[in-house]
Amino acid sequence: MFAPDLTAQHVVGKDITLEQRALGAYLGLAVGDALGATTEFLTPREIREKYGVHKRICGGGWLHLKSGQVTDDTEMSLALGQSIIENGEVEAKAVAEAFSQWMRSKPVDIGNTVRRGIVHYRNSGETSVPENEFDAGNGACMRSLPVAIAYWNAGWDELVAVSRIQSHITHHNPQADAGTEALLQMLRMTFKSASKQALFDIADGLVESHRAYRFDRRLVENPSGWIVETLQVVFQAFFNHDDFESVLVDVVNRGGDADTTGAIAGMLAGAFYGLDAIPGYWLKALNKDVKAACHSQTYALLELAGKSG
Ligand code: MN
Ligand code: MN
Repeated sequence: MFAPDLTAQHVVGKDITLEQRALGAYLGLAVGDALGATTEFLTPREIREKYGVHKRICGGGWLHLKSGQVTDDTEMSLALGQSIIENGEVEAKAVAEAFSQWMRSKPVDIGNTVRRGIVHYRNSGETSVPENEFDAGNGACMRSLPVAIAYWNAGWDELVAVSRIQSHITHHNPQADAGTEALLQMLRMTFKSASKQALFDIADGLVESHRAYRFDRRLVENPSGWIVETLQVVFQAFFNHDDFESVLVDVVNRGGDADTTGAIAGMLAGAFYGLDAIPGYWLKALNKDVKAACHSQTYALLELAGKSG
């Protein structure tokens, strides 16, 4: 039974800077993606048999990755981030074009809904797919971090509007929108040094409006790519542990869509605990070009936020 005692968790230093939090989020995303890709689509039992407890960035997995290599979660975030930096805002056509270019680069993996959305853009020039009850995958949420950084200080209405612009290029679904917006709000509040209780209240608010997201009832053992299960796993791990490494080890050992639960847990825990809380051996194992891109984009996106804020 899931019942976190948040008052028992130590108060994380209020002196973690905005920069440390944003860097922690971006590098946490990449670290979680690289770590979780190894156990993607495995069951917890298969993971136990093969790795004991999986906690080493070592590549492999069904994509046969090199150690430290990331997947679509990080790559699409970087494509979105680059587009925001170049255009000074989330501009629908520019983002759709960035995603289309990324798909042309023959990425190591790509989700079905993402592929369909990009093909829809190429064929129609439209930057939004029609609303679809089956598009509640986690593919728009997993790439949304650059929005949280560039708009950390913007108003709620503006945040929701830009989140939907980037999301609806591939995923147009109210349940997915609500989950993504709740995550963005948690990230933004974290950048403002919010307490874990305040973040819990945001997750709770999501459950109030969309009951499917209830994360207190059963442990999600092997999450699918449905955004509801993805965020249930992330919330269960984030609120149940007290450090970056434990959160990440928890989610990736549940397998399923482990690179994406890893990526989203990584951004949230990285933002909350700050860059210094990410184990050095994970940062060291991460692909160097990816690491450099996460660094430079974080600073550029923060600068953008500073200009508009
Ligand atoms: Mn992936
Ligand atoms: Mn995935």
